Amino acid sequence: MLISLDDAIARLNQGELVALPTETVYGLAGLALQANTVRKIFELKGRPSTNPLIVHVTDFSEAENLAEFNDLSKRVCKIFWPGPITIVLPKKDLIPLEVTAGNQTVALRAPNHPIFREILHRLKQPLAAPSANPSNRTSPTTAGHIAELFGDMAPPTVDGGACIVGLESTVLDLTYDKPTILRPGMITRNDLQLALGEEVLLGPHVIQRMNKAGQTAGDQSPGMSDCHYAPKTPLFLHADTKELLESAQLSRKDLIIVCTAEERNVIEQKDFSCLALSISGSEGEIARNLYSVLIQADKKKRRRLHLVFSHSPKGLNRAVLDRLTKAAVQSNIQI
Ligand code: AMP
Ligand code: MG
Repeated sequence: MLISLDDAIARLNQGELVALPTETVYGLAGLALQANTVRKIFELKGRPSTNPLIVHVTDFSEAENLAEFNDLSKRVCKIFWPGPITIVLPKKDLIPLEVTAGNQTVALRAPNHPIFREILHRLKQPLAAPSANPSNRTSPTTAGHIAELFGDMAPPTVDGGACIVGLESTVLDLTYDKPTILRPGMITRNDLQLALGEEVLLGPHVIQRMNKAGQTAGDQSPGMSDCHYAPKTPLFLHADTKELLESAQLSRKDLIIVCTAEERNVIEQKDFSCLALSISGSEGEIARNLYSVLIQADKKKRRRLHLVFSHSPKGLNRAVLDRLTKAAVQSNIQI
């Protein structure tokens, strides 16, 4: 059911959940400071209680009441908020442990979408809002995806059109001795290093490194776990079209997904069904369309999906590959 912005505010104030657009993906929002409401989010998503939620705020002055900031974290907010970056900081008492999955750290973000921002502004309190999909499934980037993913259980949704970024926020943990990316996103390691003038680590390299509380980054941030973002149809990743076309794995019952319209033409000439992630192959366009194409591919109910991605894991393509390798049952791509 589509609802108005005013209706969404009324429902949120009553402790209900609503789906809202952000610039990254649609979020399943509820009052972050109400433990009961937060529990409903976990229930509807079927999300393990060990997977903490991101708390959304209007700006730094609201965030300051919720977490302990130092100079570096203040700078990150000043430079990148509102925007597609979440920071993990030591939490203050106001944040219920239900939100953080029992951790003493909290993930905070100021989203940059006019509808979400107006709602936060008028509510005058933070919203917990994980992606509005059943746990481990593909994230929604349009209001229509939410109805498709949840069926009868779909939450009331404010339609804000298609998400501009299309991939979840970068998650930057600032509780380590060095800033560490737990989940790559549109704001890249390079963007952060240039803006902050400091070395930034990438999660996979520190996954085994223990933090002060004795947990690994993987324990703390289940978004890094191996199965996530998956379509229902088994997804196979390939680095090369030629290899795929010669592979014994491939059948006419399968669907091939490629990066550009030109590549799609080549595949279609060989009589295979094919979808393209973009027209031009630009990384922004691929990221923006990724989930939409995976959801569309799933609806075709093919035997398997084969996605060919030949770009190296740099910049925004790192984030795309991060999601793809977690969504795939098998990958022939090294990152
Ligand atoms: P989602 O809300 O579905 O975009 O996922 C949020 C992701 O943020 C989680 O899966 C975690 O990986 C990460 N996250 C949230 N809170 C924390 C936290 N306190 N510490 C580390 N990672 C977190
Ligand atoms: Mg999610």
